[in-house]
Amino acid sequence: MSYVPAADDPAADSAVAGRASGPTATRPTAAVLVTGSELLTGLVRDANGPYLARELGALGFEVSELMLVGDRPEDLRSALEFVAGNGAELVITSGGLGPTADDLTAEVVAGFCGVGSRLDPGVQETINAKTARWASRGGFDGPALEAATRKQSMVPEGASVLEPVGTAPGLVLRGTSGPLVVVLPGPPRELQGMWPSALTSPPMAALLAGVQHAEPRLLRFFGLPESEIAATLREIETSGGFPELARVEVTTCLRRSELEVDLHPLPGAEKTADALAEEIITRHRRNLVSADGTTTDELLARVLGEHGLTVATGESCTGGLLAGRLVDRPGSSSYVSGGVVAYSNEAKTSLLGVPAELIGTHGAVSPEVARALADGARERFGTDIGIGITGVAGPDGGTEAKPVGYVCICVTTREGGVLARDRQLPGGRSDVRERSVDMGMHLLLRAAGGLPRG
Ligand code: ATP
Ligand code: MG
Repeated sequence: MSYVPAADDPAADSAVAGRASGPTATRPTAAVLVTGSELLTGLVRDANGPYLARELGALGFEVSELMLVGDRPEDLRSALEFVAGNGAELVITSGGLGPTADDLTAEVVAGFCGVGSRLDPGVQETINAKTARWASRGGFDGPALEAATRKQSMVPEGASVLEPVGTAPGLVLRGTSGPLVVVLPGPPRELQGMWPSALTSPPMAALLAGVQHAEPRLLRFFGLPESEIAATLREIETSGGFPELARVEVTTCLRRSELEVDLHPLPGAEKTADALAEEIITRHRRNLVSADGTTTDELLARVLGEHGLTVATGESCTGGLLAGRLVDRPGSSSYVSGGVVAYSNEAKTSLLGVPAELIGTHGAVSPEVARALADGARERFGTDIGIGITGVAGPDGGTEAKPVGYVCICVTTREGGVLARDRQLPGGRSDVRERSVDMGMHLLLRAAGGLPRG
């Protein structure tokens, strides 16, 4: 069992992922080739790679490559050859299906599969029908549109055509050998809209029928470093109690201050994954948030809803981020009453009733003021639960006693319950503020009684 050092995951802010253990040859592999020179400039952030990677993972594939490729045809061709040479059984491309000269994906994929292309009158008709109205309204129904439609109607021989969501049809094709290639449009809304029909296209359905799928397990922990899980896995391995351990791939990912432990069994090793999950939970029960992957936000919404509890926030350094996170969820109006961003000392006093003397004595960033913010928010909004956050987000304003990253959070309840933490959080200004919100959400969940009992 090997431990691979953590790597940045662009799919999630402040996320860190690593493979903790697992077999070398596992699930069938799929590669994702995201095309578009604009993605290589840093101006547009790739939304399709992470989406496709998640979808493919859920279908039972191991994503072997996720590559960003510019709009040069020779680059796309070499990327296709590279992933095919690595053994990918399935390749998904995104982008380059439009009507402009730099949209060359269909042509390059046809060349890679060794087939020619021909005009498909059915596709041409579909695109004409889609563009007719806006084209005549805007006066664009001239030869330019005709040429554009013609280009988008060229279909590689033997390809299945996927109904366009915008104007570009998707394609599914395979050469005489090599991977099945699914060609999807670049705009994320179009790509996601076409994904269901890509899955049901006959060649894809045939491939999927042969993919054995074993349900993965996802455990979620708070306040547990990755090194602890790595040590636990090493101990479990040396104990020899799990002879089938090599048939479970374990990956860890640090996201929103929580450690996600993903256990991916090979088909037939589900029971081993379950037993391994139980063993990990037993050893780290104190830090467990959920044993089925449910997020803190989901658990909090659930427990507040079930008990009919309401929340109000009094935020300083997070400036409303916590309230924003709480109301991210649809239906949150039933348990979030409101919040106050009390950034200045005057606002803390006038809006949330924090005594000026308390701030004078202990400082604006102090456990005492965090508690007064929580009480103030709870009383002003008349809620069951109040939460106060105050901290030094930096980069300036730190002192020896209260350095940058020092944050005080307090949750108080109508019944007199108090749950307080003060911590030195690492990172820059945005890290400190985000981690404060993560910690606030966790404390709210704890205070509301939504964590598993150990
Ligand atoms: P179009 O007909 O719009 O040209 P297309 O399939 O050719 O479709 P692209 O030209 O590659 O797609 O991309 C069109 C636009 O969609 C890009 O300018 C970009 O704004 C967006 N887009 C493309 N790919 C991605 C991606 N991977 N992530 C986020 N946005 C993307
Ligand atoms: Mg384009």
